[in-house]
Amino acid sequence: MENPETPLEQVRANIAKACTVARRKPEEVTLVAVSKTHPAEAIEPLLRQGQRAFGENRVQEAQGKWPALREANPAVQLHLIGQLQSNKADEAVALFDVIHSLDRPSLVKALARAMDKADKRVPCFVQINIGGEAQKGGCPIGDLPELLKQAGEAEIPVAGLMCIPPLEIEPAPFFALLDKLARDHGLAGRSMGMSGDYETAIMLGATHVRVGTALFGERM
Ligand SMILES: *Cc1c(COP(=O)(O)O)cnc(C)c1O
Repeated sequence: MENPETPLEQVRANIAKACTVARRKPEEVTLVAVSKTHPAEAIEPLLRQGQRAFGENRVQEAQGKWPALREANPAVQLHLIGQLQSNKADEAVALFDVIHSLDRPSLVKALARAMDKADKRVPCFVQINIGGEAQKGGCPIGDLPELLKQAGEAEIPVAGLMCIPPLEIEPAPFFALLDKLARDHGLAGRSMGMSGDYETAIMLGATHVRVGTALFGERM
């Protein structure tokens, strides 16, 4: 894009540039516009500019906002990027097209049951606790093989891996590690990179970047 006029055009241009540097095709990277906390009026301009993939981190908030927006924009693809409680699995499966936060055996069970009941398979990313942070969600790296086995047995389609690197440390080594883990397990998807580091993530193999602030401004 020659002269980006909107934040979305700017982010798209940056993605295209990072893809060129990395010798990747822009079609390989899905921009997930993270609209959490932002009202429908903030989302509509992006829809008008052709943005289709959106990310929310709370089931309840998404249930309030998206059914109406979606009715007017049937091609929308909704991504759940936040921690999911097992007792919300039914609602998540009903509403979302992709789930980025599968991270534990109890959730494999709950999602498998919900998908069976709804007769709908929702592709899931396994979220990895890539920095080994005690307070953070995500599957420990050492538990990944077992979790993938359980997801396979439960017929949950695993799209790839997802991570949120530790704050305030250079994220590139964590992106590289997620890329390697995905490759080792033959998984195509890498959900990594946010407003501050999506270009770095693309250089290191991201297939899905989750960008909020750079598109919508600061959250309240
Ligand atoms: C909020 C959030 C994002 C977007 O973060 P920005 O820095 O606003 O781009 C990405 N991923 C997850 C999991 C989030 O919760």
